[in-house]
Amino acid sequence: MFQKQTSDVEAGCTRDRNERASMSDLSAPIRVLCWSEWTEPKDVYPTGIHGEVAEYLNTLANMKARTAHLDDPEQGLSEAALAETDALVWFGHVRHDDLSDESVARVVRRVREEGMGFIPLHSSHMCRPLTALLGTSGKIASWREDEEWQRIEVRSPEHPVAAAVQEFVVPHDEMYSEPFDIPEPDTLVFYSYFQGGEEFRSGCAWERGKGRIFYFQPGHETLPVFRQAEVRQVIANAVRWVARRT
Ligand code: ZN
Repeated sequence: MFQKQTSDVEAGCTRDRNERASMSDLSAPIRVLCWSEWTEPKDVYPTGIHGEVAEYLNTLANMKARTAHLDDPEQGLSEAALAETDALVWFGHVRHDDLSDESVARVVRRVREEGMGFIPLHSSHMCRPLTALLGTSGKIASWREDEEWQRIEVRSPEHPVAAAVQEFVVPHDEMYSEPFDIPEPDTLVFYSYFQGGEEFRSGCAWERGKGRIFYFQPGHETLPVFRQAEVRQVIANAVRWVARRT
């Protein structure tokens, strides 16, 4: 009888400790690393797209965003930096090939094996960590930089990345068209219709290993797309989702 009571107490203590631990993890800020190759024009994004996104995320409760770029030591992607990252937001365009094999391997391993979230934006559809994680080229059929509108339809309103997001229009952006060489998304969250009649899978969610990935198409670097409220909302939602807080 005495032994049973002891064991109940011990079980209770263990459960309390576990509950406390998970509660404290969930209340800790999400650690976001906003990374860019930083070729975007400084007159549009003075601190880079990584700086712009980090500045916005840091206005939100429960997020702590920092920045890194391609020309930082270890390309801003050291083991130590990634170990302190729950969600990696990525912007690459013309320098995908400058990313070292080591950097790609570190990002891929941290996503697959340790569950770091990964959010490649816009022209990052062909960034090497994404193509390595998905096993496809990420190529698109065509693009056009004519500052045309795109209408973004919410295809999966129940998905956490679509929280508080209704169909919206980005008034000026770059057109991307299908076919987009990616594996079928686990969830197609957003779908875009462009002014010229083209269509594109613009918000795609996958799980790979222990990690979550969300690709989001809007955001040509010469246009202030990352200051649009809906775009910011999607990125914040995506950070919470890939960090497994939603
Ligand atoms: Zn672009």
